Amino acid sequence: MVKLTFYGGVREIGGNKILLEDDKGRLFLDFGYPYSKYRNFYEEYLKPRAGAGLLDLLIMGLLPQLEGIYRTDLETGNLWQQFHRVEHHRKLEDLSGILLTHAHLDHSGHISFLREDIPVYATATTAFIAKAIQDSGKADFDQQVCYFTPRIEECLKGWKQGAYVTSSSGDHQRRFCVADKLELSKEAEKFWGEATRQKKLASQPLDDISKCSFNLRCFPVDHSIPGACAWGIETSSGWVIYSGDLRLHGKRSKLTDAFMKEAAKLHPRALILEGTNVDKATNVSEQEVYENALKAISDAQGLVIADFSARDVNRLLTFMQIARDTGRKLVILPKDAYLLKTMQLLESEIPDIAQEDAIVIYQETTASKSPASWLRKIYQDYSGKIVLAKDVGSNQGDFILCFSFWDLNELPSIQPRTGSLYVFSSSEPHNEEQEMDFWRLHHWLEHFQLRAFGLPVERNGEWEIPEAEKGLHASGHACGPDLLRIASEIQPEVFIPVHSEKPEFYVDNLSDSKIKIILPTEDGTINI
Ligand SMILES: [Zn+2]
Repeated sequence: MVKLTFYGGVREIGGNKILLEDDKGRLFLDFGYPYSKYRNFYEEYLKPRAGAGLLDLLIMGLLPQLEGIYRTDLETGNLWQQFHRVEHHRKLEDLSGILLTHAHLDHSGHISFLREDIPVYATATTAFIAKAIQDSGKADFDQQVCYFTPRIEECLKGWKQGAYVTSSSGDHQRRFCVADKLELSKEAEKFWGEATRQKKLASQPLDDISKCSFNLRCFPVDHSIPGACAWGIETSSGWVIYSGDLRLHGKRSKLTDAFMKEAAKLHPRALILEGTNVDKATNVSEQEVYENALKAISDAQGLVIADFSARDVNRLLTFMQIARDTGRKLVILPKDAYLLKTMQLLESEIPDIAQEDAIVIYQETTASKSPASWLRKIYQDYSGKIVLAKDVGSNQGDFILCFSFWDLNELPSIQPRTGSLYVFSSSEPHNEEQEMDFWRLHHWLEHFQLRAFGLPVERNGEWEIPEAEKGLHASGHACGPDLLRIASEIQPEVFIPVHSEKPEFYVDNLSDSKIKIILPTEDGTINI
């Protein structure tokens, strides 16, 4: 019998942490950062205490109480003693690995806390993107998916208790086992083993997934980030298929089609499927995004600011094409250039920035005196492509600036002309905090008298994109009818929905079929 325990992804979008147990071993299916659970307790200035290690996260229900799987340097004092009488506490010392589906943090983020010797199974692209995001991101203790600095306890004179400090010996890299592309170019190998901050990296070569105690299948699928995959695990009860996030309407939809066919051939015992967009009846395609955004931008005067996630390479390519069509240049941030450069090491269809006339790189105005080495390298490698705020400010009609809400504080240096255009090509706000950000964004636009296109506006407490400005975002997730098609084509005996706020959708729509639907509960176990 196989046991599936759902420590995350139940009635929430993201935070997937599913424990699969069999006599062959134990695996986690993703180990994601549970954004909505964090938001219940924390915000920017109220965070779990780094110095308390795992304590805050275990007590607040953000991490499962599983003794033995976490980094020991985060186990302060006699951490586990207090959990021994708690219902959900378990000792779990023999975890065979994590099957990671893609590098979005709501699937990968909490890998940061796991023991470094627990292997992470992923595609090479996912491993590389995870490292690029970490290299160029904040150095917070909960954002250390690929490598981390172990902490040591130090006694302080005159204090009753010691303090935890990060050790100066260097960073430890996690073991990643990849399902594809083990043959790396010299440059790719160098990237994987390279430290980008002051500390050295005790680097681990990429390993092969065949060393896992389970027979695994890795199916590439289409999602809004390259390298995404679904997993098949052969268990004593039959094949268990786990979808991760996917869609059927993207540019790489053939991958998802092939996954459905291959998974169906395995006659799976169970399918664990996402349901982010169950309530959407149709999809917007990337081609429609291109057409709608081109229409909005083609007669724009002055600066164009495009707000989208550069991790979604297809969207970046869409805006690069629009830049070419409108005789402008696409200005990307250094961290986006770094990510693109990283992806290009493995995927030849990703554009090479050096060869792309339509791309330039923005240097932030208040740059640090000692930038991290990844940033210094971007400035060196692409020195002919660097633009400053004053370049953009003095030739506003020449550029499409890829900025999100978080980059708006650069605008005082650029001073966009009245009537410049802000094109919003991302998803609508999902919670109150994001609504506040949208409220602020509207103030920024008013202040500089920018025109908005595709931006959600508030009407009677609801944030919605004006009807005539819709169609500027192709979601990374399949719509309801597509999800039902995926379920019925794969035809599992048991169907378990995750990563959804409305899993009942499947009960309502699949009940006529032979598929048995089981809704998971938080921390609950399903035996199959
Ligand atoms: Zn995702």
